[in-house]
Amino acid sequence: MQELEKKAYKYAIKNAYLHDGKADLGAVIGKIKALEPDIEIKKAVEYAKHAIEKVNNMPFEEIKREYEHFEQSEGFELKPVQKEEHLPELPWAEQQAVVTRFAPNPNGLMHLGSARAAILSYEYAKRYKGKFLLRFDDTDPKVKTPIPNAEELFKKDLKWLKCSVTKTYFASDRLNIYEEYMRKLIEIGRAYVCTCDPEEWRGKIKAQKACPCRNKKTSEHLKRFEKMLKHEFKEGEAVLRIKTVLSHKDPSVRDWWLAKIVDEPTHPRVSSEHHVWPSYNFASALDDHLLGVTLIIRGQEHQQNETKQMFLYSYFGWEYPHTIYTGRVMLEGVTLSTSKIREGIEKGIYIGWDDPRLGTIAALRRRGFQSETIRKIILSIGIKPNDTTIEWNTLAAINREIISEKSERISAIEEPFRLVVEFAPAKEVKTDFGTVKLNEGLQKFIVEKKLIKNKLNGIVRLRNAYNVKIKKIAELQAFAEYVGDEKIEPIIPWITEPVKIEIMMPNAKKIERVTDKAILKKKVDETCYIDNLGFVRIDNVTETKVDAWFAHR
Ligand SMILES: [Zn+2]
Repeated sequence: MQELEKKAYKYAIKNAYLHDGKADLGAVIGKIKALEPDIEIKKAVEYAKHAIEKVNNMPFEEIKREYEHFEQSEGFELKPVQKEEHLPELPWAEQQAVVTRFAPNPNGLMHLGSARAAILSYEYAKRYKGKFLLRFDDTDPKVKTPIPNAEELFKKDLKWLKCSVTKTYFASDRLNIYEEYMRKLIEIGRAYVCTCDPEEWRGKIKAQKACPCRNKKTSEHLKRFEKMLKHEFKEGEAVLRIKTVLSHKDPSVRDWWLAKIVDEPTHPRVSSEHHVWPSYNFASALDDHLLGVTLIIRGQEHQQNETKQMFLYSYFGWEYPHTIYTGRVMLEGVTLSTSKIREGIEKGIYIGWDDPRLGTIAALRRRGFQSETIRKIILSIGIKPNDTTIEWNTLAAINREIISEKSERISAIEEPFRLVVEFAPAKEVKTDFGTVKLNEGLQKFIVEKKLIKNKLNGIVRLRNAYNVKIKKIAELQAFAEYVGDEKIEPIIPWITEPVKIEIMMPNAKKIERVTDKAILKKKVDETCYIDNLGFVRIDNVTETKVDAWFAHR
């Protein structure tokens, strides 16, 4: 047999074994596609059909023998043919060490959009055996203030994404360094302290004219700068600006600000006595040079920043790092705006940074999306300069391939109803959870109410067990008797020892099901497949109850 033909047969056996001897075409096609993502769908269907035809005509005993044979010999773990994702080579990188950085503002957590810069920067550093720096650009103590535990939370996300950090920096630890360079810029006549009324200054700059401060002596600006540091100027009274080109076609580039005064800063790492704070553009540009960064990967929206920062680099005689500008990554129907997410959390709209409605890494992880899924999708988008919207279906399809083999299938019942079977034979039944011993004589099952409530005097098959005839349906339970073993339909899932499972859905609402007690053996972070619902991640297990988060169908 050909390799794929053999695999199709193997998964048809497994599917048939778990479903009372009837393999499902869609399931087997899915496996083939997962094993060989590039296969033509027509071809996959052909293989699957062929295998199913064979398996579904086999007696159950033979299916069982084959299943056990595969289980013991090679197992059912799915090992798809991994396609090498490749990022383009860096033509300059041969001669130079590659140092990349991920430089988030820790006013919120990493999301699918910002994870791109992190993953790509790490991958390039790894490829050229360089360094991957984590730098928190946390120099806004007023509007975009850092969240508590930012370091711990970012590191958790990066570790989970398998991006290993060479060294971590905080811009807020480096305020003295920034001040030193601010002074240098004043000394070389490239920066000035403007004390004009902000409105007046804007009017001048719009007309491409210098304000009265711009041409004052260096000594005056040094004096003013010391006054800024001593908080003798208050917020809004003095701003340190870089001299660029007054006629620059982009007005925001004209004499952009380097530092301003914040009267009442709130920052977890810096004393509230520190009142001079650098602009993002200044701190970030300076640190890229001082920390030896050679490659910056960032969004198109930063193009203008490079224009601004080039003045700084040219005044200091530095070379600007190599830069790759990527498009934005968005997630279908979900806001990735950090300020909007933060506002939603503060207002109580979201339960936290990992609310299931969000596209943060924390939320995706809690729902059971795997780090391989995130990495795979980000690497497949690569460094494309245009914007990309990731669809939930795509995320789910990739994730399903990764988790389906390791996710045990679980019957869960929405409306539990007792079914008492009389004249039952003793039997050992292999279920999703292992082997269940059924009593001789009287055996109680828990089944889905809606599946038997209209079946009075009808015959149904209890999955993998036997057939029963429903004799009586009462308020709280139904009675049935054993009538045989041959395979018939409908097949009804059942459990014998119920426990509650509460599932957090993507709309942040919880639903409840009842499942088998064996689920209590599951560990947090394991994933399961719940019949008629989909994949979930186990979030919490107590002695009597399980909490799970829904991933996808
Ligand atoms: Zn001025």
